[in-house]
Amino acid sequence: MISNAAFTELRDLLRSGESEKARDLLLALQAGYFTLMEEIQHLQLRVHTFEELLPVAGHVCTRNGLVWIETEAGLKGPFCPLCHSTDGSLIRLEDEGAEADSQWHCPSCEAHYPHGCPDTDRHRAVVLPFQKTCRKLGL
Ligand SMILES: [Zn+2]
Repeated sequence: MISNAAFTELRDLLRSGESEKARDLLLALQAGYFTLMEEIQHLQLRVHTFEELLPVAGHVCTRNGLVWIETEAGLKGPFCPLCHSTDGSLIRLEDEGAEADSQWHCPSCEAHYPHGCPDTDRHRAVVLPFQKTCRKLGL
């Protein structure tokens, strides 16, 4: 497992001249890094699969430059237009505050978007019911 404490320990080992122990720790960190990369790739594949299975494709729309999902209960979102145009993913934007100059922020690509959609800004998205949908689909 990679942790900040391991990097601190590595720095201390290098400072104290214990290069053999530092090398061993560095190799362990490298192995942990590769394990994490494999896990990330696996999780990305799972997310992509779930996104394809979710019945939202025909209900995605763009309003005021942001991506939304039309539901019977109204618009849900907003989602990042850059991420959606890049790979079709629906990354929900985070509201950075209630001030007049506040913005939407994408936690994935770090893009910022101005509010400016006063009639829909307060219709915040709910978390998509992945578990419920997966159960319905028998996954
Ligand atoms: Zn994004």
